[in-house]
Amino acid sequence: MNQSVPDNIGIMGGTFDPIHLGHLVTAETARQAFHLRTVIFVPAGRPPHKQGQPITDAEHRYMMTVLATVSHPDFQVDRLEIDREGPSYSVDTVAVFRERYPDSNLYFITGADAVLEICSWHNCTRLLSMCRVVAATRPGYELAGLGCLADLVGEELFRRIVPLEVPALAISSSDLRRQVAEGRSIRYLVPRAVEEYIQKHGLYRPRERRVVPGWGVVHIDGPILSGKAGEEDG
Ligand code: ATP
Ligand code: MG
Repeated sequence: MNQSVPDNIGIMGGTFDPIHLGHLVTAETARQAFHLRTVIFVPAGRPPHKQGQPITDAEHRYMMTVLATVSHPDFQVDRLEIDREGPSYSVDTVAVFRERYPDSNLYFITGADAVLEICSWHNCTRLLSMCRVVAATRPGYELAGLGCLADLVGEELFRRIVPLEVPALAISSSDLRRQVAEGRSIRYLVPRAVEEYIQKHGLYRPRERRVVPGWGVVHIDGPILSGKAGEEDG
């Protein structure tokens, strides 16, 4: 590779439960803005900030991420967090890519909500010393609060957080899960192949609870029975 051309690589972490157009638009906008040679999507194994919440099997989330990105020549998906034991800390993931691409500039792409939690991230100063963090705008979250991070991480590292204006898509995986559970459409919010995958595997459908003598309460996967189903999905 030509030494004078900086080699920039994007890393897009997320639970992707499911992946949606908000993730894809963010990754694509970052790819263009920072001249990223590739954006590597990294579905989380066990996200530390989502412990205690039910999360879809990693293989399903991985498959949906592959389906959503396969047609983009510069997008790829990496299984490293899924295949790793223990909680998925972003800093450990970035450290792997730092080693894999020692001469590249790494851009860790996050939405405004995630970047504002940066202080609570495991070893965030180490993270910022290894990569730049892209703080993408996201409807419902303010990037204005970012300034307070300067005191916490210091001016030099703070400059490694780069804001990015992204076309506003008020889509979240939590809303999508709820919509599927309530039998509502998610078309045009996720790629068509992801929508079909969700349907095919019955993901996010409410499960009927029945008391079976001798078994106690059992959950039965089944068709959506009423608009109220899935209300307990939080
Ligand atoms: P959940 O509701 O389950 O938390 P989510 O929609 O926030 O799902 P995640 O997988 O948690 O999706 O997010 C992965 C990354 O993508 C995070 O950095 C998040 O801020 C960012 N992101 C998610 N949705 C959007 C969006 N609509 N616009 C910009 N960034 C987004
Ligand atoms: Mg989220």
